[in-house]
Formats: sequence, C-alpha cells, structure tokens
Amino acid sequence: MIIRQSHFSGLSLIHRKLSNKEHKSNMSRKKIVAANWKMNLTLEEGEVLVDKLLQGLPRELHCQVVIAPPAIHIVNLIKQLSGSGMKTAAQNCYSAPSGAFTGEISAEMLESVGVEYCLAGHSERRLVFNESNVMIKEKINAILRCNMVPVFCCGESLDLRESNQQNEFVRNQLTESLFHLEAEAISGIVIAYEPIWAIGTGRTASPEQAQEMHQFIRSLLIKQYGQDIGAHMRILYGGSIKPDNASVLFSQQDVDGGLVGGASLSAAGFLAIIEAANGSIQ
Ligand code: PEP
Repeated sequence: MIIRQSHFSGLSLIHRKLSNKEHKSNMSRKKIVAANWKMNLTLEEGEVLVDKLLQGLPRELHCQVVIAPPAIHIVNLIKQLSGSGMKTAAQNCYSAPSGAFTGEISAEMLESVGVEYCLAGHSERRLVFNESNVMIKEKINAILRCNMVPVFCCGESLDLRESNQQNEFVRNQLTESLFHLEAEAISGIVIAYEPIWAIGTGRTASPEQAQEMHQFIRSLLIKQYGQDIGAHMRILYGGSIKPDNASVLFSQQDVDGGLVGGASLSAAGFLAIIEAANGSIQ
C-alpha cells in the first residue's frame, strides 16, 4: 500500500492559511491540464508520445499536468513519468474494493500501483455504459476512500442546452453524485465541465458559455459548502480544446484548466495546450 499524506487535511490547512482577499481571487487555484487518451494508443505509441512530452515540457511548470491513459498502460506510464512532475490518472474505476466483477478495476488496485487521479462520470461512461448519477457517486466514494483525486465530469446534451435546461441538469448531477460529501472530502475533488455537444465534435463552448457555467457550478459549491471551499475548488473545461482556443478558455475567471481528449494525442498539440495553461494570465 502506498502511503501518501492525506490530500484532504493538506487542503484544509491551505484553506485556513489563506486570507480573505486570496479567497476571492483565483490566483491560488493552480491550473490542471489533463489528457484523456480514451481507448487510443498502443503501449509503444503511448511511450513515444510521453517521451515527446517529457522533452517539450516548459522548464518552469506552473500547472499540474495529468495523463489518463488506457488502464493497461498505467503501471508503465507511472514509471515513465517518475520525477517529471506529471501525474497519472485512471479513466474509470469500479466502486467495490474487490470481488466477482469481471473486467473491472477497483480504486484500491489503482491506489496500489500509485495512481493519483481518477475520472468519474465521463459522458462516454454515462452514455455508452449507462452509468447513473448514483453509480458515479459510488465511484467518487471509492476514489476518495483510496486517497486519489476524483475528476468528476458533468455536462449537458445539446437538447438540454438548446432548451436552456443546462443549469438544472448540471445542478442535479452535482447534487446526486457529490453533495452527500462532507466539506473536507469535497475540497479534494476536481470538477470537469464537459458539455456533451462539445466533446469530440470540434464544436467548443464559447469562452463566455464556459465561464457562465463554471461560475454557476462554483456558486453551487459556495452555497453548499461555503466561500472558503467553493472558491478554491478547481473546475476544468473539456470539449474540443485545441491549441488555438486554449488560452482564451483558460483565461476565464472560473476556468481552472482543461480536460483534453483528441488534442492530447499529439505531443505538439498537447504541449501547446500546456503552454497556454502555464502562461495563462487572469
Ligand atoms: C474528453 O473526452 O474528455 C474530451 C474533452 O474530448 P475532446 O477534447 O476530444 O472533445
């Protein structure tokens, strides 16, 4: 079992030490740029891509870079990233710790090999594998139980956006999968707003649409958990982020980085997105 300092107690300490002024600013929210490779790349292709990332990373990295490869690559990737500052995420886990769940991987197993982040609730899991808000809640609990950082994905379909129901829908996703958590636990979570109509479609939310929803999500967090916690939680945007739109998205007040699918499969593209987060001025 890998022992790590409790993520949550560390965060609480940080919260206590910050002044009120800092609470209102987003400067204390270190950006995260996470690559979601989905079901792409052989082991060798993944290694070559990561080699290029290691060679091209900015010398001074001010953002957290996370890579979520297919599960079979994880152990290898953790070794390859060792000492680089980049972290590894799983794309999914199952909520039970062990047992007769053929084909599944538990949070305990991920923790045992040193995984630090795990996605939960990606729209492809919700749509292709019928994951409900309740199932995602159980996965969030499992990820937290294993001291990893959940990256909770939420976001509405095009129909909901066009009928202006996106806020209600996202509020419900948060309420049913996250709001059972105590303040201490929720502060260790990263949220990724990923409108389904923007994932893999080439159609990106405008910076204004992204900011509006991120601000709304933050307002829900503040209402539920207070200013201290809501103001410090990271909310990533995901949906057709590319080198040419990353900077403007990342410069929005409540956008704390991105979850990147297609563009993370090219070293040049992903490095340009990392650069955008690294240099993003609020
Ligand atoms: C994703 O899969 O989380 C995603 C945002 O994909 P893309 O960047 O390809 O839209």
